[in-house]
Amino acid sequence: MPKPVIGITAGFAENGDVYLRRQYCAAIEAAGGVPLILPPSAAADALSVCRGLLLSGGGDVRPELYGLHDYDRTLLFEPSDERDRFESELTRLAVGRGLPILAICRGIQVLNVALGGSLRYDIPGHRQTLPRPEPSHTVTVEPDSLLFSLTGCERLWVNSFHHQAVGRTAEGLRVTAAADDGTIEAIEGLNGFLLGVQWHPEHMPTEAARALFRGLISAAEL
Ligand code: MN
Repeated sequence: MPKPVIGITAGFAENGDVYLRRQYCAAIEAAGGVPLILPPSAAADALSVCRGLLLSGGGDVRPELYGLHDYDRTLLFEPSDERDRFESELTRLAVGRGLPILAICRGIQVLNVALGGSLRYDIPGHRQTLPRPEPSHTVTVEPDSLLFSLTGCERLWVNSFHHQAVGRTAEGLRVTAAADDGTIEAIEGLNGFLLGVQWHPEHMPTEAARALFRGLISAAEL
């Protein structure tokens, strides 16, 4: 059987460039998948060649998409309406088809907002200055979760490069990991492989980080 193609969303720059940190591709490849970077295109056609979806990190989701209109514009980080639209459509289509999804950092936020949830617009204490592979805080994992079944850990050390977090979870999603300050760090669907994490496992050299990508590939092979 051919290796499963995993579509990876990317950033869309104003000059027309499509960009993505290569660690996402390396992690998918190391886990046994074929990484495919998705440019802005017809979401349904793009998904038709993918057996899994990775929603990657990036700038902030436009707050209006979760009903926030009164906010400090100076804190809005690299918004892209084009990317918001494309990823929201991809997410809803992929969830509808039961396609396995791993959503990372901005991705967990896109996942939640696309399905009707909200975000906390600006939170303190989650932007580490340590290098990306190094963890800066722990999260507590729900023992009956997909995240636990993948990692075998009730407590994980994670890196942290975000100033926003999941607020109200969308219907059909549940919180499966949180930081000690209460910040939501992982959400999951109620069945299938639908997992969002607020940290960046693609930069972490740990077994628990690799397990997330292997889980995505295994689900995509079914
Ligand atoms: Mn964090």
